[in-house]
Amino acid sequence: MSDLPPPELRVPPRQEVAGLMMRWVQPLVVDGEVRVCPECGAYRDWIVFCMRDDSICLRCRAGHETKESGLDAAWYNRNSGPVDRFHPTLEEGLRHLGH
Ligand SMILES: [Zn+2]
Repeated sequence: MSDLPPPELRVPPRQEVAGLMMRWVQPLVVDGEVRVCPECGAYRDWIVFCMRDDSICLRCRAGHETKESGLDAAWYNRNSGPVDRFHPTLEEGLRHLGH
């Protein structure tokens, strides 16, 4: 028997996760403007990523990713709930969030 807690209770160091992510279902307004995907025109149901370098990326339902320079990690932390789960891969995270 090992004294280590089960893997799901261990929080990996931040450098081991691709970044933080959350689902953002409502339209996302930055500086008074609704953000729209430049490729497909989607304006709601984003996945918002907080990358390792504290930049923010938006991903629409169709999987297009756009860097969002109007937002930063401080915004993310204010708007995301407490981190309930870390995802070792992007795919697992997206599945968890319903994308
Ligand atoms: Zn798109």
